Amino acid sequence: AKGGGRGRFRFYSSDLHQAAEDRRALEEDLRDALARGQMELSYQPVVHSQSNMVTGVEALVRWLHPERGIISPSMFIPIAEEANLIWPLGEWVLRKACEDAARWPGGLRVAVNVSPIQFANENLPKIVANALAATGLSPDRLELEITESVFLGDSAETARMFKALKGLGVRLALDDFGTGYSSLGYLQSAPFDKIKIDQSFVRGATEKGSRNAAIIAAIVALAEALDMETTAEGIESLDQLDLIRKLGVSHVQGYVYSKPVADGELVEHAEAGSWTIKPSG
Ligand code: C2E
Ligand code: CA
Ligand code: CA
Ligand code: CA
Repeated sequence: AKGGGRGRFRFYSSDLHQAAEDRRALEEDLRDALARGQMELSYQPVVHSQSNMVTGVEALVRWLHPERGIISPSMFIPIAEEANLIWPLGEWVLRKACEDAARWPGGLRVAVNVSPIQFANENLPKIVANALAATGLSPDRLELEITESVFLGDSAETARMFKALKGLGVRLALDDFGTGYSSLGYLQSAPFDKIKIDQSFVRGATEKGSRNAAIIAAIVALAEALDMETTAEGIESLDQLDLIRKLGVSHVQGYVYSKPVADGELVEHAEAGSWTIKPSG
């Protein structure tokens, strides 16, 4: 039994070794990719749930790997965060999103995801200000999406960061609400304009006996009382959209309206004037 145990251990450890090796290779590639401009932004429409009108988009980064094809951010963002590459990557995303948005007609808003690691750096407000100044984008057209995990850090520093960002005139959204481990105490003072309801609450919400609808209703009530908008993420079907509308969620993002699209496609739609999308699914 002992020998078998050791055998299993060896097998496992070589697996781990392989995983570490893969990760190092990916980290190297990521460094190159940033330098070679292999990153791209996709934009997913955020739609007003009652009128079907597009009010903005969320920028989602994609890595066009020469051999592996398109790599998803959930795969490489954690690597970028650990390898200190989230700085150049985050700055590139911010700059590119502002640059694109400044060209869109109709005042579409752009939302950019900010990693908690970026949020912990005191230079963030300067980086945001520089992106706005360099592109001429009006600050109220930029929304920064921040997860509640930032509240696990030093609270005085967190408060200072919020104040500095708000001072720039940008909007702030609380991303993946309810999926972290924070208390709700931070809502007393954090100046969010919007709460994003994570896909995990939407999934299954239309099934019989699911408690998710009750949870979503409670989030909507909380947001309304605090004068914040709500966006439900990951709405895929008309049934889900119907429920989300009944629950009073103000905005929707999901395949039921649109997958993330390229900048060019966005410009075409936006140029046509007020842009509405007919939901399907
Ligand atoms: P997120 O911020 O929660 O973004 C929403 C994710 O849900 C996106 O995945 C989007 O493509 C996907 N999605 C949207 N609608 C639907 C739907 O109807 N069904 C399904 N199944 N999925 C839907 P994506 O683009 O793969 O991004 C994954 C995560 O990576 C994001 O989650 C965000 O946390 C992170 N991320 C993406 N871009 C950036 C970035 O520029 N910077 C940072 N720091 N993180 C980013
Ligand atoms: Ca987000
Ligand atoms: Ca997120
Ligand atoms: Ca999410």
